[in-house]
Amino acid sequence: MIAINEELCKGCTLCVNVCPFHLIQIADRISSKGYYPAKFVDLKGKCTGCTLCAIICPDVAIEVHR
Ligand code: SF4
Ligand code: SF4
Repeated sequence: MIAINEELCKGCTLCVNVCPFHLIQIADRISSKGYYPAKFVDLKGKCTGCTLCAIICPDVAIEVHR
């Protein structure tokens, strides 16, 4: 699974597009920083911990837990 730090996320969508299983979405609300933050949605436990999302994030907002 991953943890997205909303305070660091700028909603750039890079992680949304890179996840092979489409497990990251953009939230429909605004963060305290004024961005639409990414959110992790993995109802079926598909995340493999591949780290692609964390590597691509320019703001180092994603932590991967395996
Ligand atoms: S670690 Fe990989 S599978 Fe999990 S959310 Fe990130 S990109 Fe998707
Ligand atoms: S790549 Fe990082 S900054 Fe961009 S939407 Fe994802 S978590 Fe937010």
